[in-house]
Amino acid sequence: IKNTPAHRHSHSDYDTANTIEERKYLKTYGLMPPGIDTFEKQEERCLAQLNARKTPIDQYQYLSVLRNTNVNLFYRLLAHNVKELTPLIYTPTVGEACQRWSELYIQPEGLYLSFEDRGHLHQIIQNWPHDVEITVVTDGSRILGLGDLGINGMGIPVGKLSLYTACAGIHPLKTLPLCLDLGTSNEEFRNDPLYLGSRRDKVTPKEEEEFLDEMMAALTERWPGIVIQYEDFKNPFPALDRYQSTYTMFNDDIQGTGAVILGGFISAVKQSGIAAKEQRAVFLGAGSAGVGVAKQLTEFFMKEGLTEEEARKRFWLVDSQGLVTLDRPGKLADHKVYFARDDNNGKQIKSLEDVVDYVKPTILMGLSTIGGAFTPSILQKMAAMHERPVIFPLSNPSSKSECTFEDAVKHTKGRCLFASGSPFPTLQWNGEDLVPGQGNNMYVFPGIGLGAILSKAVNVTQNMIYASGEALADSLTSEEREKNWMYPDVRRIRDVSVVVTRGVIRQAQKDGVDRELALRNIGDAELEEYIRERMYDPFTEHEKVLREIRDITGSNGH
Ligand code: NAP
Ligand code: MN
Repeated sequence: IKNTPAHRHSHSDYDTANTIEERKYLKTYGLMPPGIDTFEKQEERCLAQLNARKTPIDQYQYLSVLRNTNVNLFYRLLAHNVKELTPLIYTPTVGEACQRWSELYIQPEGLYLSFEDRGHLHQIIQNWPHDVEITVVTDGSRILGLGDLGINGMGIPVGKLSLYTACAGIHPLKTLPLCLDLGTSNEEFRNDPLYLGSRRDKVTPKEEEEFLDEMMAALTERWPGIVIQYEDFKNPFPALDRYQSTYTMFNDDIQGTGAVILGGFISAVKQSGIAAKEQRAVFLGAGSAGVGVAKQLTEFFMKEGLTEEEARKRFWLVDSQGLVTLDRPGKLADHKVYFARDDNNGKQIKSLEDVVDYVKPTILMGLSTIGGAFTPSILQKMAAMHERPVIFPLSNPSSKSECTFEDAVKHTKGRCLFASGSPFPTLQWNGEDLVPGQGNNMYVFPGIGLGAILSKAVNVTQNMIYASGEALADSLTSEEREKNWMYPDVRRIRDVSVVVTRGVIRQAQKDGVDRELALRNIGDAELEEYIRERMYDPFTEHEKVLREIRDITGSNGH
């Protein structure tokens, strides 16, 4: 049975929904209870078992076991309950799962490559039993906001790839969770008897670079065309610079985040009814996130017809010293120079509220890590100046958000166009349910990955990342726009991912990095159809496997 195609294709041989015919094919007839389930009954049983577990981590473990024993059922359950289950398989629960990974370990779920194995990575990769289309790789050195967790970071690739499957239909057996053991700076872990990684300190940047060079070559040699997503590296920039034009890779922390904010921003600008050249954006926070996001948004203003100079001038950045200007006393950090103002006539403005009075912004973005920095008075001023003020408090977690959804709604009398980095609950306002937008990367990375796979892209270009954000903004329905949503309903995530994937493929074609040339000549509707057909569907997967067995065995089942 080990070598039947069914076994290679599916971990769901013992699915209680399998018919008698299927059980006979799979030789599982008699090895499981005789009753045949519908999905509704399976869902009822699973949700009851899930709810019987009282803590999120217990629920996380239940879902992990389910994924390992009946992968199709796990994804059926997830597809039906995406909003409720995502927090259990990814953030926030995955954070605790990573902190306790070695303690809670019960089953293998991915590939580990250790620094000690350098020189032999190619051989170790041969041990992986499946053909891979996409991998998510981390060295665990900056897991969420939790610091260096070493090999306990494996929970992140595992969780992210579950989302790739759930949101974009990448086949679960074609995903590779990959965790590198390059040592850890986490002393507590190094001294923990249960820790399952090496007890050495983190390797040097030079050693890391050599190791990654070998890994990238070995992965691509075994699986030509593999998409490699970097995640939660402490310093993500060297690898991105080094590999983005030589391998099919991207970094979700930098590029996915940028794209998802871009998507919300495009929606907000369009819904505000104010032309791009009249927009005035104040950013609280001029760190790597603030400047990075502002740079990406200038690209949008340029596509709306502004020159680079005009686009740059739409931004006013504020840091801990106040408005960022060229003539400020002291040396200005290099990364702040691009957006530094030169039109302040010697005026130095210190507080955000004074900057708001001075600039009269249409847009207020927060990337400052200062919880509550958008005060009631600032929010009221935004509302007094514009019909639809754009308020994006993007700092994470919720405690650091520049304002809550409730504050933003209350102090703008429900008129703001809002999106945040962290989740906020739905709010009752004038008898209506107001739903806050959350700039969750899961709106874009699944489509970036699938777009790169299907177009067989040689690289993931910056234009493809941009296109994913643009497509995300395009994916809203007219009902969603009427409700002033910045992001689509997450329950439609598979449809959204199709639109994002199409945008990414079209851009790969424009950039000439695609190798699936046949897709160049088909229309948008046909391309959409092509994408949908290639998506793994946990509801029909077992039928597909069965058809394949029939084709191979030439049998009709009797
Ligand atoms: P960072 O490099 O530490 O930058 C923080 C910036 O805020 C700096 O420019 C700092 O000023 C400024 N700041 C600090 N205290 C301030 C104050 N009291 N008043 C005014 N400005 C103040 O951090 P980062 O990496 O850019 O990240 C910032 C935040 O963005 C984090 O909370 C992160 O979670 C969030 N983020 C969210 C998303 C998302 O998708 N929602 C994506 C990326 C980042 P100085 O330069 O003067 O020190
Ligand atoms: Mn991350």
